[in-house]
Amino acid sequence: MNANQKTVVRFAPSPTGPLHIGGARTALFNYIFAKQRGGKFILRIEDTDKERSEKKYEEDILSGIKWLGIIPDEIYRQSERTEIYKRHLDALIKNGAAYVSREAKRDGAEGEMVEVVRFKNPNKRVAFSDMVRGEVSFDTTELKDFVIAKSVTEPLFHLAVVVDDFEMGITHIIRGEDHISNTPRQILIQEVLGFSRPIYAHIPLILAKDRSKLSKRKHGEAVSLAHYRALGYTPEAIINFLALLGWHPSASDASEVLSFADLVAQFQLERVQKGGAVLDANKLNWLNKHYTKKKDMIGE
Ligand code: GLU
Repeated sequence: MNANQKTVVRFAPSPTGPLHIGGARTALFNYIFAKQRGGKFILRIEDTDKERSEKKYEEDILSGIKWLGIIPDEIYRQSERTEIYKRHLDALIKNGAAYVSREAKRDGAEGEMVEVVRFKNPNKRVAFSDMVRGEVSFDTTELKDFVIAKSVTEPLFHLAVVVDDFEMGITHIIRGEDHISNTPRQILIQEVLGFSRPIYAHIPLILAKDRSKLSKRKHGEAVSLAHYRALGYTPEAIINFLALLGWHPSASDASEVLSFADLVAQFQLERVQKGGAVLDANKLNWLNKHYTKKKDMIGE
């Protein structure tokens, strides 16, 4: 990235469920980072999985981030960009970096065949420098020739992400740690397409009190932003709370009560912790009390 390049970040949720609290935090970290650098914040709806994507979830995501005050500069939907992916997929096949493979359909009936597109894995070590996790290196050999499209017209997740990040001029990819193992595949695709590499920052998972990964199956409604909104928490308290999931101000005596403007002034992506961030309901309640009291006082 050259010094004059404008910062462009994206929040790229899949609309397969309501906005997750971890997703809201990813959106927030991206948004703060863009604001700090006078950059652009893109919302990209990753709805290539037609079976699992639903309009109501897209609406929930958009309404959730807007309620928090996170307003995208641009919005895209992957389902409307198929032509762009196809163009790049054709180029990959043409130059031999990917190939059509006729094979037995997974979970299909006996003898049922499909034609998928596989990426020709150069089987090498991929290393990248992550703003949160430092130097990361993977041997890609075990990934084999992975599938990048279900057919010549249906590109899958990794290809769509790489193409979009390039086409949208994304400079920094700030996303959940659960995507770190996708990064080597995405870098391999980027390299053969001749795209420059964005800067990565993988932020820690959000954990429940017992340090298990926060999941819908185990923790129910408490994983979605709408749950907190319905309970009457204020957006100011939620923003403040989300910012403290994996980050805290640098001075040890600094206040943990931080407005959005304070966060833009103080947040440092490089200081986000590597380890999981435990969701502490007491802290949320404490922050919410602070903000609601303040509101009442202004109202008097
Ligand atoms: N669509 C992915 C998700 O919802 C995120 C992809 C990315 O940030 O690169 O988990």
